[in-house]
Amino acid sequence: SGLVICFGEMLIDFVPTASGVSLADAPGFLKAPGGAPANVAIAVTRLGGNSAFVGKLGDDEFGHMLAGILKQNKVSVDGVSFDAGARTALAFVTLRSDGEREFMFYRNPSADMLLKPEELKLDLIKSAKVFHYGSISLIVEPCRSAHIKAMEVAKSAGALLSFDVNLREALWPSKEEAKEKILSIWDYADIIKVSDVELEFLTGSDKIDDESALSLWRPTMKLLLVTLGEKGCKYYAKNFKGHVDSFQVDTVDTTGAGDSFVGALLAKIVNDESILEKEANLREALRFACACGAITTTNKGVIPSLPTEDQVLALITKTI
Ligand code: ATP
Repeated sequence: SGLVICFGEMLIDFVPTASGVSLADAPGFLKAPGGAPANVAIAVTRLGGNSAFVGKLGDDEFGHMLAGILKQNKVSVDGVSFDAGARTALAFVTLRSDGEREFMFYRNPSADMLLKPEELKLDLIKSAKVFHYGSISLIVEPCRSAHIKAMEVAKSAGALLSFDVNLREALWPSKEEAKEKILSIWDYADIIKVSDVELEFLTGSDKIDDESALSLWRPTMKLLLVTLGEKGCKYYAKNFKGHVDSFQVDTVDTTGAGDSFVGALLAKIVNDESILEKEANLREALRFACACGAITTTNKGVIPSLPTEDQVLALITKTI
């Protein structure tokens, strides 16, 4: 099947061994490999698709460990480079008792931020059928220029561009700059996914309604998605809009639900672009993507919780 290229960061989350504690009170931490674009790449191969991760890792034990995880999961590492002088990014993440995530990042700068435009493997990027990215790679140079160049090369070569905003406010110098830089690449994308929180952030409206979502719509787009956690998602396309419910599951940890959702949708679209044109096909693909997102919440750790096609179909048939 067609190649999905995921561009951006891969890092290690350090997650407390106890739940509902602050980072300072955590008795210990477990390594959880992550980074949204890398999660999406693995979500695609877990479902039987074809993907590559493009980004930079530290030339250190953690960087090689992460590249090994991509390879074990059949994600191509042809576009991965290693920086001899910088470390692989780390993030300490805890789910507080109020359900909010608290992050502490170690990026001073980390290897992912140092990817240069001239390090891009242009032939690989030109072979993408879908080119997917987030916004963390837009924050600082030289990665920002590499991101924009890769996007332009993929687009000129005919790839569909997919943007999951994946806002991490703490990494930006200011809210204003985050908003400005995120919106500066808005018009490139064919498919954009925002969460309810990101919709509020970008529009400045405190309502999650069609009017605020449609203020983010552009005639150049094919699909705009607003994800709503357990409430499923809303979709907006040129000729139709609507809502798709998710599935009821025993949620343990919602981390990565969005990555799983996006990976599943891209795995479907890369094989059948009519999903973007026909509402019935889109709704079916979104139900599938919601099932993937839901399953990913039923266990801790994103990568081990990304489902196979059989697991997704089991949840969908059980519900019908
Ligand atoms: P994250 O940043 O945590 O990866 P996100 O905010 O980008 O996630 P969500 O809206 O949390 O994205 O989740 C994406 C999709 O996964 C939702 O649209 C929904 O279909 C499914 N999902 C997420 N959480 C749940 C849940 N608790 N129960 C059922 N489905 C869920």
